[in-house]
Amino acid sequence: MINDSQMVWDSCLRTIKKNVSPQSFKTWFEPIRPIQLDQQVLTIQVPNKFFYEWLEEHYVSLLKQCVRQELGDRGRLVYRIPEAGGTPAGNRAGEPVRVTAKPSAEKDNEPVPGSFDVENIKNPFIIPGIKRVKVDPQLNPNYTFDNFIEGDCNRLGRSAGLAVAKKPGGTAFNPLVVYGDVGLGKTHLVQAIGNEILHRNENKAILYVSMEKFTNQIIQAIKNNAVTEFVNFYQLIDVLIVDDIQFLSGKHKMQEIFFNIFNHLHQQGKQIILTSDRAPKDLKDIEDRLISRFKWGLSADLQAPDLETRMAILETKVGVEGIDIPQDVQEFICFNIKNNIRELEGVMISLLAQSTLIRRDIDLELAKEVIRSFVSNINKEITVEFIQEMVSEHFNVPVEKLHQETRKRNVVIARQLSMYLAKKMTNSSLKAIGETFGGRDHSTVIYSCKAVQDMMDTDLLFKETVSELEKKIKMSLN
Ligand code: ADP
Ligand code: MG
Repeated sequence: MINDSQMVWDSCLRTIKKNVSPQSFKTWFEPIRPIQLDQQVLTIQVPNKFFYEWLEEHYVSLLKQCVRQELGDRGRLVYRIPEAGGTPAGNRAGEPVRVTAKPSAEKDNEPVPGSFDVENIKNPFIIPGIKRVKVDPQLNPNYTFDNFIEGDCNRLGRSAGLAVAKKPGGTAFNPLVVYGDVGLGKTHLVQAIGNEILHRNENKAILYVSMEKFTNQIIQAIKNNAVTEFVNFYQLIDVLIVDDIQFLSGKHKMQEIFFNIFNHLHQQGKQIILTSDRAPKDLKDIEDRLISRFKWGLSADLQAPDLETRMAILETKVGVEGIDIPQDVQEFICFNIKNNIRELEGVMISLLAQSTLIRRDIDLELAKEVIRSFVSNINKEITVEFIQEMVSEHFNVPVEKLHQETRKRNVVIARQLSMYLAKKMTNSSLKAIGETFGGRDHSTVIYSCKAVQDMMDTDLLFKETVSELEKKIKMSLN
């Protein structure tokens, strides 16, 4: 039996269909589900926040017109967003995010969920109005295990994370340190652990905080003479998740405070979960006593996903967004975007936006254009430092040697070649390049470029090495 909301929405769809392209209709309106009609308020469910923002930005007047046509001048539309990966069940699901199509379309000034007052340092995350200490966990409910795709690249971290989520503080994985390059899912994974614990036990005091925020809070606390309260607050937490601990580098006062909190929690059998952009042993300028504690539990790295995993991730994201990207286009994207899942998402969103803006089908041609724009954006980021790293790796010499006076043959070649490639592949001046090599002057750079050119002219094998390296530098930023 068709209900009222469905009937009203079907009529709206008929009008909408006449006013937008078939692709836009399919992309933006077919995935919408009418949920409820309450007098003159129609509630519709959209797949996600991005979706509703897009509708608001591009179709608000059309939607307004339809709703008023069906429900009269006081007709209003309310959006709902389901919880990620799940059905709109449970109390958190389906909170209305914005009311539009009001006769006077004023913007609702909703507080940002999880926002807090940095000034109020004594208990920065405590929800006011509740007697018992209750901490706002600062978790994003969209990051779950369900939508964290498993692959060889993350198997260890994912299963350790699940074990921790089932028994926080009760496994050998304490602390659990998840490390890896940017965009590989560290934040997603540790938030998923937090959400899972929350789901299993509402009463646990869980707190997710980035190390950047944590250090800013300390600065405030020092200013307000409230370091003791700050530490006391953190010592109340049952599960402490700290993201991007490499931010502690070089900040010794912060390290001391973090050390105290860490020790206290660990001794009480509380769970500590950390992420870092590198393995604990490679963290720079952090006290040994802290590093050794980071190594107490389990360090699990997240690696770049293989093609199969990238395909699975993209397919899930495409499904969640409720859009239609042909299989060959998905494959093409995954072939070309290798090292960063955030970029994979970026390409997908950008494709979606492009196809809607210029009303084109999402096909291989469009995908190529979008990826090209991504790749050239990224290519701008080739730096002299990056070239130095790649060349040193190839010649198996430490980067520092390039800056020093060493006259060993392979170091000299690596140094000269780095200068040559820096000149060729970046916009840096001769002077700037020289400075990046331990303060050499521009004439040294000119000399090196000539030397490399000569070697390439006389040694074919060397010439090949150079072009291989050049390609590798371009591709690794792909
Ligand atoms: P990091 O913190 O390592 O920089 P994020 O956790 O922010 O990376 O991940 C970047 C994006 O990639 C996020 O949108 C995340 O949801 C997504 N992502 C990463 N790994 C996976 C995975 N295994 N499955 C699904 N999505 C993933
Ligand atoms: Mg992160």
